Amino acid sequence: MSTLTIGLVLPDVLGTYGDDGNALVLRQRARMRGLDAEIHRITLGDAIPETLDMYTVGGGEDVAQRLATEHLLADGGLTRAANAGRPILSICAGLQVLGRTFTASDSVVEGLGLIDATTDVLSKRMIGEITSTPQLEGLTETLTGFANHMGSTVLGSDASPLGTLTKGTGNTDEGEQVSYEGAVQGSVIATYMHGPVLARNPQLADLILARAMGVDMSELPEVTGQFADQLNGEVQQLRKERLR
Ligand code: GLN
Repeated sequence: MSTLTIGLVLPDVLGTYGDDGNALVLRQRARMRGLDAEIHRITLGDAIPETLDMYTVGGGEDVAQRLATEHLLADGGLTRAANAGRPILSICAGLQVLGRTFTASDSVVEGLGLIDATTDVLSKRMIGEITSTPQLEGLTETLTGFANHMGSTVLGSDASPLGTLTKGTGNTDEGEQVSYEGAVQGSVIATYMHGPVLARNPQLADLILARAMGVDMSELPEVTGQFADQLNGEVQQLRKERLR
């Protein structure tokens, strides 16, 4: 297969709490499997290439996320990539931006509408660790991350939660969806979990790689050599300790 291309979308405005690291994790996990992979850093003002294999979008402050939204709406490249089924991982403000509308700095802003979700304001800022049980086929391991947001997101019928919350506050702090964390719709996977989330949830990284390659996770090339020891030993052990 040719080089896998990873679009790091607007890291200059969206990328709090290590979210840029999600692109690094995808590239590294591809390389561990002997696959060539490269990151395309796309900053504010750049056209968003619509034919990359996968994309990551990070979180950000209200003003930054409004700037990002304006650019993404005007450019249209990310929307076309999503409509073509290219995997997109979107974090926190990224989740809100890809939704229908969000409230930031007291104004309601139109998002990209790639996720059937509307974001209002939480009664109290959510800051802290969260865990959830994944609801997305292919994922079996507990999801974990760090959240810091004021957004209260409610999903419509076209979107499904990424996980069912087991610790912390998820998409919203009241109503029927209090146990929902994140959103999945088509090729978009979105979550409030920073971390970066893919460093803390390697199975989710592999799911995105597999989707980008159009294969099942079980068909990803084997990890061999020193990388295999790391994956099977240290990393898993650290993860278990973290979840304790
Ligand atoms: N500005 C958004 C909020 O507070 C997103 C924050 C973030 O991405 N961490 O809800």
